[in-house]
Amino acid sequence: MSNYPSEPEFEQAYKELASTLEDSTLFDKFPQYRTALEVASVPERVIQFRVVWEDDAGKLRVNRGYRVQFNSALGPYKGGLRFHPSVNLSILKFLGFEQIFKNALTGLNMGGGKGGADFDPKGKSDNEIRRFCQAFMRELSKHIGADTDVPAGDIGVSGREIGYMFGAYRQARNRWDGVLTGKGLTWGGSLIRPEATGYGLVYYVAHMLEHAGRGTFAGKRVALSGSGNVAQYAALKCIELGATVVSLSDSQGALIATTDAGFSARQIETIAQLKVERKALTAFDQNGSFKYVAGARPWTHVGKVDIALPSATQNEVSGDEAKALVEAGCFAVAEGSNMGCTQDAIDVFEAERRAKGQQAVWYAPGKAANCGGVAVSGLEMAQNSQRYSWTQEEVDRKLQEIMKSAFDDGLATAKEYVKAADGELPSLVAGSNIAGFIKVVRAM
Ligand code: GLU
Repeated sequence: MSNYPSEPEFEQAYKELASTLEDSTLFDKFPQYRTALEVASVPERVIQFRVVWEDDAGKLRVNRGYRVQFNSALGPYKGGLRFHPSVNLSILKFLGFEQIFKNALTGLNMGGGKGGADFDPKGKSDNEIRRFCQAFMRELSKHIGADTDVPAGDIGVSGREIGYMFGAYRQARNRWDGVLTGKGLTWGGSLIRPEATGYGLVYYVAHMLEHAGRGTFAGKRVALSGSGNVAQYAALKCIELGATVVSLSDSQGALIATTDAGFSARQIETIAQLKVERKALTAFDQNGSFKYVAGARPWTHVGKVDIALPSATQNEVSGDEAKALVEAGCFAVAEGSNMGCTQDAIDVFEAERRAKGQQAVWYAPGKAANCGGVAVSGLEMAQNSQRYSWTQEEVDRKLQEIMKSAFDDGLATAKEYVKAADGELPSLVAGSNIAGFIKVVRAM
């Protein structure tokens, strides 16, 4: 029996990675890597703190703040901050653990970390959010730095929150440092950073489609979940490439297109504006072309679908939903969210991949498919160090190169370390896990 508290999300993420390493030939070739995995599974440092702030009624409120500095072998700790009532150490350890290997797959020199608070931004005024961010940074500023630890956004933390925290950092430390990414363009941000996770996801899937002989995005039906930053830009890129986006969702339900047209770019922009106003998808004018399914996720409601991109939060595709997607004809699944699929869902997709050769379902884990966000964060750090800004075209080109190399790396590594039948598509989950792990362990 363990004397540690149970950490279900972290244990799930650890087991997912460890089981793919165990099932490969990695530990046969490098038995010492088993010990390295044991070492890498313990964060270098965990910081926990109290965040006291004042609400609009003048009442003092308190939340729990955290930063998990998981691994700095490849560079400064790097990873987002999540503000959500569900945040606890298990969730931040799972996210920080995933981030180590995701960041390695970008090929940039970034370690892995994650942080956040159990603060719920929903229903809070701008002033309350500002006071919370300032109180949060009063403590966090003691533990971060451009060459130490560089946080960014995640669920509940976008440009506005980064702005409040960046201002608080400068006040606390009297320094302009590239200490947060996702900054505004006029004060050190990078072009394409807001778009990067969603665009990168679509660039990654384009390589999957091409490699599997499935053509391009043109004419494909794409089911998306989520309606935040990742889902919005993934949807816009899918539409730009000629695909039909058939669903979006938020924490209260799913919005499903009922005509073959799906969502237009303008409708995605309308939804983005609703989100800025912190409204739910229920506020979207459905105009007879959509249905809203309260309390549901999209997967069992979308009808025929070619590609699924879970882009909301962790564990948003169950084993049964994975089966429903396979039955609906889905042949590519890639996570815009971190650990979007449950282990049961991954098992369904991986069994389908093995069973059907080139006609298989192909699953890509978040740590590979959504690494575009943190990759452009890495590019933002590089621009800050140079006191220089690259053009939109330059950043987009580098993002495309990084997504291609993350895909190629996972593919080549799976071929090298995972036994597969003739004609079987390589396992991107095993390949990406092993490729990221090898980079980190060699640096350690
Ligand atoms: N939160 C994002 C992720 O999960 C981005 C992190 C960052 O840019 O540091 O990768």
